[in-house]
Amino acid sequence: MQGKITAFGFDVNELIASFPPPPAFFETTWLAEPEQLAALQLSRVKEELRRTAANPFYARRWAEASFDPDSVVSLADLPNVPAYTVTDVRESIAKHPPYGEHQNFLLGDVANAGRVYFSDGSTGKARPTINVGWDVEMYGVITGRALWLAGLRPGDMVLNAWTYGPHAAAPFADDGARWNGCLQITASSGAVTPTVKQVELMRDYQVRSVLTFGTHLLNLAETAESMGLDPKKDFSIKAFPGPSAGLAPKIENAWGVDAYESYGFNEVAYMAIECPARDGLHIQEDAFIAEIVDIDTGEPVPEGELGQIVVTSLWRRGGSTVRFNSGDLSRLLPRQQCACGSWMRKLDYFQGRSDTMVKLRGTNVWPEAIGKVVADSPLSNGEYFVVAHGQDHREELTVHVESSRQAGEFGAIAAEIAIQLKTHLGVRINVEVAPVGALDKLTSGGAKKKRFEDRRPGGPAGR
Ligand SMILES: [Zn+2]
Repeated sequence: MQGKITAFGFDVNELIASFPPPPAFFETTWLAEPEQLAALQLSRVKEELRRTAANPFYARRWAEASFDPDSVVSLADLPNVPAYTVTDVRESIAKHPPYGEHQNFLLGDVANAGRVYFSDGSTGKARPTINVGWDVEMYGVITGRALWLAGLRPGDMVLNAWTYGPHAAAPFADDGARWNGCLQITASSGAVTPTVKQVELMRDYQVRSVLTFGTHLLNLAETAESMGLDPKKDFSIKAFPGPSAGLAPKIENAWGVDAYESYGFNEVAYMAIECPARDGLHIQEDAFIAEIVDIDTGEPVPEGELGQIVVTSLWRRGGSTVRFNSGDLSRLLPRQQCACGSWMRKLDYFQGRSDTMVKLRGTNVWPEAIGKVVADSPLSNGEYFVVAHGQDHREELTVHVESSRQAGEFGAIAAEIAIQLKTHLGVRINVEVAPVGALDKLTSGGAKKKRFEDRRPGGPAGR
């Protein structure tokens, strides 16, 4: 291709050459040898540190920690870069509203075609992220790769049923579908395009995938059945690229196709994606480095151990994400060549949030781990809400679950799920069963469902 295409404020050809979209990515970088990947990462880390040193938020923190970005000469030096958390971001926004010092410096200079995305606010006030045109399209490339890996191909029709709003999920899917060459119907949520109408669109336009959250895929299957349709026979679905949020077994059971898992958040989109081998999430290592650190000390943990995910992105042009401690929990799996051919390092599936950990009779328990056991039970529809209550040495966890069975069976279902929880988590957890829809008032409120409430006197609700 000749010449620079700069209509979006950047050179599109440079983006394509540096971070190949599908299918080129899967024929090149995806199959790179570990040494090639490491060399690419090191050169990008150095560039990212040089660029980020001009950001006042980082410059101040690095100076306070006497950190010199030039001291990073190998990837092993990365843990020396001071990490930061969402608390630091919130403080920066409070002191330098409305964007925070880490982004305000951009305002005079943001290229055209930029966007501001907001976090969904599931753990506090929604926080904005300024994305210049390059960043917006990079989200599309990163998300498009997830769609390709799930088997979606150019020309495949997809229904984008993420809720269009200030947060990033719907635009990520929108841009991802575009970079993967898909046709797209932008439906938004069931409140905008009723679920019955979405099912009709899926049937009438041979939709090959629906881009949305896991519970909505289950809603769509139920609605299709209530319309006299068979989700497995009357549609043309290929696969669901996720994120399935732990509901993959139920989604696959309902639709008879693969439902993939992924890991990401507002600032990183689909940074880790599942391949058909289905045994972990490949980190998109040309674009991200993930580290795992100890919950208490912040120091790197040995390979395979559970800890907090620390992310460095290698592509941003607007703000920076350099050693952001997400507070999410997972582990790094040993690097080896996958059955799919890729050497890209795998992250284990999302294990929970470190800030919702509850120490129950000496055992660390995460609401998400409880949710996984609930989702695996055929007696529930996968919906759950965990409450911590009691005090001192009489703390308790109660999980509320939904079931489509008769109310007369609820007692027996609670007993059965309690046994499963004790088996998998090693502690006794109370179970209360409610009819389908009963938990909506507890879980709704953000783009992500709320799954946990701390009602202990010392917990957030009691403060
Ligand atoms: Zn693989």
